[in-house]
Amino acid sequence: MRPIYLDNHSTTRVDDRVLAAMLPFFTEHYGNAASVTHAYGWEAEAAVTQAREIVAETIGATPEEIIFTSGATEANNLAIKGVAEAYFSQGRHIITVQTEHNAVLDPCRYLESLGFEVTYLNVDRFGLICLAELEKAMREDTILVSVMVANNEIGVIQPIDKIGELCHDRNILFHTDAAQAIGKIPLTVQNVDLMSITGHKLYAPKGIGALYVRRKNPRVQLSAQLHGGGHERGMRSGTLYTPLIVGLGKAIEIADPISEAVQTRQLRDRLWKQLNLDGIHLNGHPTQRLPGNLNISIENVDGQALLLGLQSSIAVSSGSACTAAKIEPSHVLRAIGAPDPLAFASIRFGIGRFNTEEDIDRAANCVRETVQTLRAAS
Ligand SMILES: *Cc1c(COP(=O)(O)O)cnc(C)c1O
Repeated sequence: MRPIYLDNHSTTRVDDRVLAAMLPFFTEHYGNAASVTHAYGWEAEAAVTQAREIVAETIGATPEEIIFTSGATEANNLAIKGVAEAYFSQGRHIITVQTEHNAVLDPCRYLESLGFEVTYLNVDRFGLICLAELEKAMREDTILVSVMVANNEIGVIQPIDKIGELCHDRNILFHTDAAQAIGKIPLTVQNVDLMSITGHKLYAPKGIGALYVRRKNPRVQLSAQLHGGGHERGMRSGTLYTPLIVGLGKAIEIADPISEAVQTRQLRDRLWKQLNLDGIHLNGHPTQRLPGNLNISIENVDGQALLLGLQSSIAVSSGSACTAAKIEPSHVLRAIGAPDPLAFASIRFGIGRFNTEEDIDRAANCVRETVQTLRAAS
């Protein structure tokens, strides 16, 4: 039997309805959406327009504000480097958070190498930023604040509406990485200037995402990072990948962040309840977190042995990563102050649309048995 898939923060299975919507655009309707002289082009263009409208409507944007990209990494790069390049004459200071995804941190570090200054905000033990600290970090020359909606490891949800208000009071642009949040929790761009999304965390394929770029109050200027045919209003050149765009649109159309959240939250709570081992800790916020997220640390067990013991039965990810043969606790667990031994023995569960109660019960049993065996042996 294949391991039970509980790694839905890392990627998800494509939903059959998404796949069905995409298939005709690989074969029959293979036109280039930029071809204006024939029906093949018109069909593709119509499909792209429809997907763009769905994405826009879902987050409260207009279709012209949606730029399709290859995913959230590209959207984050376009937002952060694009704003930095367009606004550097007004200031070279950017604020972000220590617990952001590397697709935000690495563009920021790159900009530091070009002479920009970046403030990396701390978080509290739940993973939340402090709004007063954010306010204190804002300066005359701050051009951009980038704070994610929901964290990909501990699932904590930042107060993006309040962050957006603080930014707007000071004419600072606000970008948010919503890769984990879109379709999972209600989301609007009301107080946001730039928002990154991706398809493959939401049952659409890998390789497609989008960046929302505000056009009014204020109209955000962005320097293109890919130059070419001038697609996507010049902000992102390259022939539009019609099948993937159709898939992203379908995935967002069928997502129901209210009722699906009830289901995944139930499964998550069931898992947490069944894991009642001695010395188990919840990482992150007890309530303000993604419904399908559970991140735990377990005392008195070797983290590596634990993962090894689990890997044939459940597909999960750990809070540590191997870099150059050395095991390092994740930067997120470090930032919330988890002591190293606990950060090493941590497990991230990402529960998704296709998980069942049976999956959860089997996974909980498996973790309990593995921990008990390891503790008995040591
Ligand atoms: C997965 C993820 C990304 C990267 O998205 P891709 O579409 O794989 O490039 C960025 N940010 C967060 C929070 C993510 O979870």
